[in-house]
Amino acid sequence: MTRRTWDTNDGWECAAGWDRPLQHFFFDIQRKCRNCDGQGGFSDEPNDADQCPVCEGQGIEYLFNNLMDEEGLADAMGGMKLEQVQLALGRYLTEWPEGLVGALILDELGNIGNLEVHLGVYGEERKSGTII
Ligand SMILES: [Zn+2]
Repeated sequence: MTRRTWDTNDGWECAAGWDRPLQHFFFDIQRKCRNCDGQGGFSDEPNDADQCPVCEGQGIEYLFNNLMDEEGLADAMGGMKLEQVQLALGRYLTEWPEGLVGALILDELGNIGNLEVHLGVYGEERKSGTII
């Protein structure tokens, strides 16, 4: 698969790419959970009562993840069409790397199987209420 990654100025790590085996795009926006500082809970021993409610004990919080989408931006298997990636970009982020969408188009056209590129730092989380 191709994996094109970038960071936002407010600490989100974004990744988008073409999954060649599954023949669809993926996209996720995640960061170390700030509620529990990535620990997953608030006790030395893992237990349900002290589990972090934000990340449900995972230590990672998601702004968007194609595998967990419940907003119709991905199919049941997490597959995304390019149009859905574009919708998700606009819904969750203020800015993203110039040329990203064009690069994804070429990833699909070329059916690229193995590529990882870090693109830099762009924009930030689009706060709710400013959804376009
Ligand atoms: Zn947490």
